[in-house]
Amino acid sequence: MDINNLTSDVISCVHEAGRFLQKERLRIDEADIGIKGPGDFVSQADRTAESMLKERLLRILPGSVFMGEENSPDVSGGDGWRWIVDPLDGTTNYLQGIPIYAISVALEDRRKIKSNWGDITLAVVHLPELDLTFDAIRGGGARKNGAAIQVRQISDFSRVVLATGFPFRNKDVVDQYLAVFKSMTLKVGNIRRIGSAAVDLAWLASGTFDGFWEVGLKPWDIAAGILLIEEAGGIVTDFRGGNPLENGWIVAGSKNVYDVLFEVINEHFPERIFI
Ligand SMILES: [Mg+2]
Repeated sequence: MDINNLTSDVISCVHEAGRFLQKERLRIDEADIGIKGPGDFVSQADRTAESMLKERLLRILPGSVFMGEENSPDVSGGDGWRWIVDPLDGTTNYLQGIPIYAISVALEDRRKIKSNWGDITLAVVHLPELDLTFDAIRGGGARKNGAAIQVRQISDFSRVVLATGFPFRNKDVVDQYLAVFKSMTLKVGNIRRIGSAAVDLAWLASGTFDGFWEVGLKPWDIAAGILLIEEAGGIVTDFRGGNPLENGWIVAGSKNVYDVLFEVINEHFPERIFI
């Protein structure tokens, strides 16, 4: 099995799920929307999109296993290939009619696991409403709608634009988060809060954003974006320089922006308070 040849199949599968989400978006019945946790809504469309993706992705790569947001995630499972999938990242945007949400699909190679995670080998992030598809293969670069992308190398910090997400699931660190926010606000040109980590990471890979940090993300929010950024020449780690898949506390950027963000984060998150 040559993993390099899977990308076009994965893209077509993700596009199909994207068309489904767009169609469902037009007829969401408020009564179908359950509350999973504070600020974290999940819709019927979300669950159906995940089932569609699971069925097709497992068929694309026989013997692979699947980890998804709605699919009783089995973090330890599998010793071969594992799909790590968020069928709808940016659920609040989706429900509110803000056209920035994404489907995120990563393929993890668990044949050589370091700690709990193998290497992410293939990544696709698709924004259905904006008709943008990002993909990457480990060692094969990253693309936006088929054209090669690179992180933006920028030295003038007054032109740096960061992205972040607010810690709505980790309210206990809101003070530390805001201290980082304040410090970075004083250093950079601007900061955006888009509402989808998968989109933040894809847009960092393609030079729309120069840096990103957030706490408390899940593996399916970031697995694909991590590979996009690495293949686009950027850096992405957790708050201590380790693998962000381990804890979901993530900092990323082009080299010089990452260095500054990392230092500021370490100043304000002095103890290991990962949850
Ligand atoms: Mg998500």
